[in-house]
Amino acid sequence: MSEHQPTWSRSRRLLRRLRDIMAGPGSAQERLDQVTTLIASDMVAEVCSIYIRRAGNVLELFATEGLRKDAVHQTRLMIGEGLVGDIAQRAQPAALAEAQTHPLFAYRPETGEEIYSSLMGVPILRGGRVLGVLVVQNRSQRSYADEEVEDLETIAMVLAEVVSSGQLISPDEARADNAAGRPLRIAGVAYSPGLARGVAIVHRPRVTIDTILSDDPVAEAQRLDDAILAMQDEIDAMLRRPDIGSAGEHRDIMETYRMFARDRGWRARLVEAVQSGLSAEAAVQRVQDETRRRMSQVSDAYLRERLLDLEDLTNRLLQQLAGENSRPDDLPDDTVLVARALGPAELLNFPEGKLRAVILAEGSASAHVTIVARALDIPLVGRLDDVLSQVEAGDQILVDADNGAIVLRPGEEVQANFELAIEARHRRRQAYIGLRDRPTVTRDGVAISLLLNAGLLVDMNRLADSRAEGVGLYRTEIPFMIRATYPDVDTQIEFYRQVFDAAGGRPVCFRTLDIGGDKLLPYFRSFDEENPAMGWRALRISLDRPAMLRQQLRALIAASDGRPLNVMFPMVAQVGEFAAARKLLDAELARARRVGMALSQTVAVGTMLEVPALALQLPALLPLVDFLSIGSNDLVQFLYAADRGNPRIEGRYDPLSPPILTLLSDIAAQCGAADVPLTVCGEMAGDPIAAMALIGLGFRRLSMAPGNIDAVRAMILDVDSGQVAHYLDTLLGSTAPSLRTRLGAFARDHGVSV
Ligand code: PEP
Ligand code: MG
Repeated sequence: MSEHQPTWSRSRRLLRRLRDIMAGPGSAQERLDQVTTLIASDMVAEVCSIYIRRAGNVLELFATEGLRKDAVHQTRLMIGEGLVGDIAQRAQPAALAEAQTHPLFAYRPETGEEIYSSLMGVPILRGGRVLGVLVVQNRSQRSYADEEVEDLETIAMVLAEVVSSGQLISPDEARADNAAGRPLRIAGVAYSPGLARGVAIVHRPRVTIDTILSDDPVAEAQRLDDAILAMQDEIDAMLRRPDIGSAGEHRDIMETYRMFARDRGWRARLVEAVQSGLSAEAAVQRVQDETRRRMSQVSDAYLRERLLDLEDLTNRLLQQLAGENSRPDDLPDDTVLVARALGPAELLNFPEGKLRAVILAEGSASAHVTIVARALDIPLVGRLDDVLSQVEAGDQILVDADNGAIVLRPGEEVQANFELAIEARHRRRQAYIGLRDRPTVTRDGVAISLLLNAGLLVDMNRLADSRAEGVGLYRTEIPFMIRATYPDVDTQIEFYRQVFDAAGGRPVCFRTLDIGGDKLLPYFRSFDEENPAMGWRALRISLDRPAMLRQQLRALIAASDGRPLNVMFPMVAQVGEFAAARKLLDAELARARRVGMALSQTVAVGTMLEVPALALQLPALLPLVDFLSIGSNDLVQFLYAADRGNPRIEGRYDPLSPPILTLLSDIAAQCGAADVPLTVCGEMAGDPIAAMALIGLGFRRLSMAPGNIDAVRAMILDVDSGQVAHYLDTLLGSTAPSLRTRLGAFARDHGVSV
């Protein structure tokens, strides 16, 4: 701690003077001016400027020390434009010794800033919302220390209060970016399904830190300790909730979260910050800023999640210190929570039944909050980049987490239609329930197997009510992604055993690890790849690091404990890769026999078909495999050279296009002739129109997300497979980009519900 002392005492002095300015006389504008002068002199910078966000996603220079004064209120940048705009867009600090050579540097002649080489800037944030940017610049090439960035962030925290006070720009203008109250539909990504309607509550740490400094470190340390203890009790109570109590990844996530809350290192850093003269609250915030900085350097998805855990704990601790209840009160009964990102425990603060949906600017399929939301059955839409600047607390929001879209401030008509959609969906669901016990056979007597895609233990709960025959695709990667260390064989055995048990005798097709690309493991070295989807991923990693695959296979064999075992490999591109993977499985089976393990007579080994080249090797491949499963998500992205995760090209290419359907038809014919069972487990299998086309092409096994099974079953009961096959025959030669409309018309004309 001694090495921090000089920095701490300097920042303490700076904060005191800042406090004097804030408490002193003068308008808000005058205070901003004084702050820029103070920071420039204290940080030995030639320039300090404050940019504030105005309507139209514009950042306006509001105050400066060092740049030309006549640029104030004249210089404007768009969010995302230049380095300052980039800091605002990413809501992340930046410190550059050579700012002018940075590709994002945007030169503004009226400011006279061409003489300054280095730049350090931090966003002025309130909750998740960017209110402006605070910047210092130096003439010499200066490398800013981490502590300086942290100081600037602490100052930005204080400035956020001035900016949001409404004295600089009117609250109406601050709200203007949410399209002045106009309805707005925004597309994102569906992470936890469902439809909901409700009132926006914007997630912000509700605690504002008024007292930054303290003269009594002993008393502050005591407050800190009391708050930590109270927070730990609160988390223990969460873990006793019945919906969290059941086994599954969400339980593991919450256990890890609890461990973090008890971390001694964290407590020690908090105490150290208090001893330097900060109030307990400011210490918590400061340590969080420090951690954020350390972790922001790594692009690792796992560490990003850890950071969210810590943000969540930080907010919780601040609430304890403020004596506030972390369970928000006065919430509307139909709350839709809006946030940049959330930690896992945040959802558990809401009184049961009040939280209707969650929408996030960020988010991912393996984010901890996603896993907890799915366990709690709360619809969640993520990747709504700019949602925080568009939504205002109290706005009405419609959430369609089946299709990954939201509507802000819907007009009466849209609301009425959405209500109708919710009611219709409810009625449809009721009707579907009546169909669940009917055999899934088409009108012309063709039996279709409906299977489930799963990736979490909670998904297995859907097996019984959906009446799926089994699990057509079990994505095994999520448990690997949420752990800090590689799960050893025993941990994996326990996990797969739970899956087998939950399946209750129904078959489960386990797909071996499909990691790499953007699905990185925390304990596994990652490489920057230009095209990660086509990079070192899935089976490519497994074959280069066979021990990992062998351990997974060993665990699967042990967990099966004599029950039928189905294993498939992802991203196979060559017959030889499949053969090599199968050899590893055979070696593990031989080992299991040697040690006298219970083994089933039926071990089926297959491959995903998701790399186009493999489709051209079927004559050599089919004699070697027990089954094939088409991963249409990847297959379509590779066939059209169109990134499946890029919203700009989303919808541009349809799996229901003649080239894709022709290829699928050819694969189905070859598998039929070779008597190799064939499944489709990509998204298209769960889309009723596409599923109808697949049946017409000869597919008899469809595996899909739990929420799609009922609708696909209803389609099957209505359809005549021979008629679809005949109709498709006439269409495959077409040059239309998609046959969706025609197939839709066919369904309508033939009374098929799609
Ligand atoms: C696919 O690619 O279609 C598939 C099912 O695999 P994933 O979506 O997990 O890549
Ligand atoms: Mg795939």
